[in-house]
Amino acid sequence: MEKKIVYLTPAESQKHVSFRSNKGLSNETLGLLHEKGRQHGLESILPFSVNNIVVGQWVNLKCRYGCSQYMANWSCPPATPDLNEVKTILGEYSTALLLMGSQNRSDFYKDSNRNRTDQVKYWKGTVSLERMLFLKGYDKAVSLVSGACSLCRQCAYPGPCRFPMEKRPTVESFYIDLVGTLKNLDIETKVAMALHETFKYYSIILLD
Ligand code: SF4
Repeated sequence: MEKKIVYLTPAESQKHVSFRSNKGLSNETLGLLHEKGRQHGLESILPFSVNNIVVGQWVNLKCRYGCSQYMANWSCPPATPDLNEVKTILGEYSTALLLMGSQNRSDFYKDSNRNRTDQVKYWKGTVSLERMLFLKGYDKAVSLVSGACSLCRQCAYPGPCRFPMEKRPTVESFYIDLVGTLKNLDIETKVAMALHETFKYYSIILLD
């Protein structure tokens, strides 16, 4: 039977971690994030200033028109904060991490079990990095994930979420203009024109 509880060794349990060190991210912490991220299929993790995040009301149009998850998923609008709330929230953070990965699969856009399994893996990876940061004293760490929550085959929305501890808003639900933000970070991205091309995905963790 799978062990659900992992107990710390006496030495570990006596270590005290201070919250909100405001010391930025040490190389050691970044190294640990990269190591854990790789286990979840992430290719790179880039710390950057929250000032580089571009938000726009128009992003919500993309959710509202042309996406099947609008009003159908707890991680998407209108269940997520509105633009004013988002601006207030972003103003309360100084640093963010950009988590990047890629896929090269012709069935990327299909509703398949394989797609869902991969998406859940990346989702859980992002949330587990957030958890790791919290345990290192970054109490404000919160994830904005890539793609609508797929933990359940069919989201329970508008009924109660089945896994509220895992639920996080998507990057787009936060009105984040991802392309504009990537440009600010000098990260080149392009539209994938054919199914055989590599698709990139991006998550963000806000922290202080
Ligand atoms: S955990 Fe399930 S019910 Fe909750 S947001 Fe995700 S898909 Fe929806």
